[in-house]
Amino acid sequence: MGFFCPFFFSFSALQVSRALSVSPASAFTSVSAKMAALLPFSVPNNNNPESNPFVSSGRTQFGSVRISCSTAKMGKIDDTHLRLVNSVKTNATFRLNASRESMESLLNLKMSGKESLTETGYEKELFDEMKHRFLNFKRLRYLQQLDHFQKLANIQEPKFMIVSCADSRVCPSNILGFQPGEAFVVRNVANLVPPFENEPSETSAALEFAVNSLKVQNLLVTGHSRCGGIRALMSMEDEGDSSSFINKWVAIGKNARSITKTAASNLGFDRQCRHCEKESVNQSLMNLLTYPWIKEKVIKGSLFIHGGYYDFVNCTYEKWTLDFKESDVEEGGGCTIKDKECWM
Ligand SMILES: [Zn+2]
Repeated sequence: MGFFCPFFFSFSALQVSRALSVSPASAFTSVSAKMAALLPFSVPNNNNPESNPFVSSGRTQFGSVRISCSTAKMGKIDDTHLRLVNSVKTNATFRLNASRESMESLLNLKMSGKESLTETGYEKELFDEMKHRFLNFKRLRYLQQLDHFQKLANIQEPKFMIVSCADSRVCPSNILGFQPGEAFVVRNVANLVPPFENEPSETSAALEFAVNSLKVQNLLVTGHSRCGGIRALMSMEDEGDSSSFINKWVAIGKNARSITKTAASNLGFDRQCRHCEKESVNQSLMNLLTYPWIKEKVIKGSLFIHGGYYDFVNCTYEKWTLDFKESDVEEGGGCTIKDKECWM
């Protein structure tokens, strides 16, 4: 698999429990924005951040939109709940105060070849840590917000559906602070959305459920820096390796690759990949509009399509919104984007 390291299941980046301990993100206090109105597929042939629609302007804007956690009654616990909490606190297996080694340390130890743990002991330590994190979540979050989590047990009403990469470093709940119930998430290699005409995929199925059943109001496709899937897309031969599931999947982004190769031909390979990481997000936004039930809702104004890009090297997040007007496409003008922001 070579460079395609994101496929490793890294316990050091075990996002499941980390996400549970992240407070609602202040990053979502956003949205008033200057209209950017840029063609998503047009890319200038220079490196000037001010003229490149995909490069941060360095401007950060904050508005009034916030993901609401109002249904969670923080700290409201009745007697029954208190008994539950107390029973957990006194459970000998709970290990809240136990000395523990992080999974990252364990992984480093394993990688260094100096470990004295047996293979079985090593695996047990990993799951002991996972157990500790889960029980910590249960005590500090679930039981403290029992009313909220019991409502969630009956119904989910997420406002967002997220399409994100499977890369272990880019868990959207962790980075953007989505709490349980707030975002319906599908993750795949290189955060690609196949067009409607393609064979069924888990991403298409997730879109159908989120849009038609859950009736989410926002679709957010979020890319990221140093994406191994995009690197595979940019590296592969034109026809791809038919024996590789990876190549066959990332070929969905071949239009983004072609646009990048043309528009950013003066850049080195790494920077072309960075360019394509964003271009492929825009390609996916356009692919979303090939789903008739998505397009219909976007035209009606009951569904909004957004792009995002997480740079984990500099820890910045870019966000933009598709400004879709059917007449624009009919006239061959393509789509524009608006409300472009960079959170840094
Ligand atoms: Zn990726």
